[in-house]
Amino acid sequence: LLQLDSVTVRLGGRTVLDTVDLAVAEHRTVCVLGPSGSGKSTLLRVVAGLQRADAGRVLLAGRDQSAVPVHRRGVGLMFQDHQLFPQRDVAQNVAFGLRMRGARRAESERRVAELLELVGLPGAQRRSVGRLSGGEQQRVALARALAPNPRLLMLDEPLGQLDRSLRERLVVELRTLFGQLGTTVLAVTHDQGEAFALADRVVVMREGCIAQEGTPLEVWQRPASEFVARFLGFDN
Ligand code: ATP
Ligand code: MG
Repeated sequence: LLQLDSVTVRLGGRTVLDTVDLAVAEHRTVCVLGPSGSGKSTLLRVVAGLQRADAGRVLLAGRDQSAVPVHRRGVGLMFQDHQLFPQRDVAQNVAFGLRMRGARRAESERRVAELLELVGLPGAQRRSVGRLSGGEQQRVALARALAPNPRLLMLDEPLGQLDRSLRERLVVELRTLFGQLGTTVLAVTHDQGEAFALADRVVVMREGCIAQEGTPLEVWQRPASEFVARFLGFDN
């Protein structure tokens, strides 16, 4: 579904992504791991069309996306800091992308109800986002990203600010949800446990390059380099 061909991004005189090649097959979940500053968020932004590539190509379903604007790419992006509108209610937040795409009110209300059900917040439409717990806000952000029914869902640290027990529960729920919906997912995480639980394949990034790519088991059992081994916590 998604293919990156030698994608390079330079920002402020630095090469933030360096000839990155990556493929994500349909209905699969790929998790991107790597130290802070290794280019993970930039990778998602390039695919979403929020960041221009200086070289290389992004293909979705085989089509070059260079001339395709953000809202036509059919991708959903849940940001690292989820960027919800705290003064608006849950329904307004979830419907944001739908209304922008010209959905009618009744249609959008139906979809919002369905999505809230899906993320485990049924009936939360009128609640104020600013008064929700961290975990509830993450669910709202997820519902918003899912709203336009993206062919590719990208999540940047989707469970970032949550405590361990909530994360572990949500990971299981997400895995089930993606399976049911047949969603293709590209997710960034700091947490290896999360990556290994969610992903069909993992990608380890280092300084704008892909240090290793494989199934969780492959990467875990046979780290390709000292860097990967260290990053995964195998400090001989
Ligand atoms: P984190 O885990 O902390 O979120 P990341 O892997 O997502 O890190 P990116 O946000 O992709 O990292 O940033 C990669 C590098 O690019 C960083 O060194 C960052 O400082 C730099 N960078 C990002 N945006 C810009 C910008 N607009 N101008 C200059 N440098 C930038
Ligand atoms: Mg980031």
